[in-house]
Amino acid sequence: MTNVENTSGTFPVTKTEDEWRRELTPEEYHVLRQAGTERPYTGEFWDTHTTGVYRCRACGMELFTSKEKFDSHCGWPSFWAPLAEGKVRYLRDSTLGMERVEVRCANCDSHLGHVFEGEGYNTPTDQRYCINSISLTLEEDAAAKD
Ligand SMILES: [Zn+2]
Repeated sequence: MTNVENTSGTFPVTKTEDEWRRELTPEEYHVLRQAGTERPYTGEFWDTHTTGVYRCRACGMELFTSKEKFDSHCGWPSFWAPLAEGKVRYLRDSTLGMERVEVRCANCDSHLGHVFEGEGYNTPTDQRYCINSISLTLEEDAAAKD
């Protein structure tokens, strides 16, 4: 995890808030565009072990894979790394009286979740990308079925 940014910029996918509102459900809009958080243990993917690729629900960019997903038991889908650096961007988030690092899609700047470091998980990076299920869609790897 590098390059925590404080600035906004331009992104390959740019839409007005009206366009996002039309394309997303109210729940998706709240999390993706207003940095909301789904309640733990309620999302679609927190306990999913399906082999596949997770895409941004707002723009379709491939962001995470099942290879980096691990059981953090925190109630949200957790990954120890993104599919590749550059797929996501990082912003400093000081809301709720905490210093956290927000994770956004680098393609459309939609909110995904937060990343935490040094929690002691037995993973290659000791990072936990704590991502809202509602920010993602899962594309199952057809070859891995059965
Ligand atoms: Zn996106």
